[in-house]
Amino acid sequence: MSIPAIIVHGGAGHLGPDDPASSGGPDAPRLAGVRRAAAEALALLQRGGAALDAVELAVRILEDDPTYNAGTGSCLTADGEVEMDASIMEGEGLRCGAVAAVKDVQNPVSLARLVMERTEHVLLVGPGASALARAAGVPAVSNERLATAAQRARFEAARAGAPAAAPAKHGTVGAAARDRAGHLAAATSTGGTFLKRPGRVGDTPIIGAGTYADDMLAAVSCTGQGERFIRMTMARAAADLVGAGHAPAEAAAQALRRMTGRVGGDGGLIVVGPVGEPGFAHNTPVMSRAWSRADGTIEVGL
Ligand code: ASP
Repeated sequence: MSIPAIIVHGGAGHLGPDDPASSGGPDAPRLAGVRRAAAEALALLQRGGAALDAVELAVRILEDDPTYNAGTGSCLTADGEVEMDASIMEGEGLRCGAVAAVKDVQNPVSLARLVMERTEHVLLVGPGASALARAAGVPAVSNERLATAAQRARFEAARAGAPAAAPAKHGTVGAAARDRAGHLAAATSTGGTFLKRPGRVGDTPIIGAGTYADDMLAAVSCTGQGERFIRMTMARAAADLVGAGHAPAEAAAQALRRMTGRVGGDGGLIVVGPVGEPGFAHNTPVMSRAWSRADGTIEVGL
């Protein structure tokens, strides 16, 4: 039996105009959310729960938190709609599932898990993903309910040609974990990029780009400019660096350096190694995150 570990992120990016920290106070909501998600996932792991259940739980908590750009609170497309991407993977049998451009579920990460467990496929998109949700009894949630007033106002301001008050805050969410049995898992969920072309799919649901988990290597969840992460197969690249002997933090930093050197781009990633050591790196001003320490306490950082 080994010590369980969890690391959670709430997106890499800049502080946004709606962030309390940009007006001088502590960045309370964004850090409170990742702390709560990590704490609840850690409690599950400490009860002997599976890494797969822990990452799903952490991501669901953040999808339900309107502070983040995932699930409720997702940013809007150029058409003013919510289109969500998510994926999940377990490192024992390398099973994985993903959904892209989904418009009508509360928790895309759980739908990704249904793709993994109830179909012979890895990735379902749009209406096909919604059809699986309905067949599995997952209730439809209206797009209007997923789009918060804050995201709607941001969209209306952009449509009216208002200059952006500050660089866009990101807010993709993800988790990587190791359970007592030594198994790894990772999951990621996002509303994608603000004003994206309808149908655009980023790295989040692409296994090996936004998410990867292999007990022999590492569990990884990424956030940032998805097109660059896809081109670098970032999550798998970072996992391979751990497999080659780098500590998770060093693997994350090196993968990011390689990306900027080759294709540019910004973002960050979280990593859990095969013996449960968490690591992260980002080249953006901030990346909200929370992780468990060996003594069972949760640490947060921005
Ligand atoms: N990686 C996400 C995407 O490209 C966005 C983000 O993490 O901020 O859809």
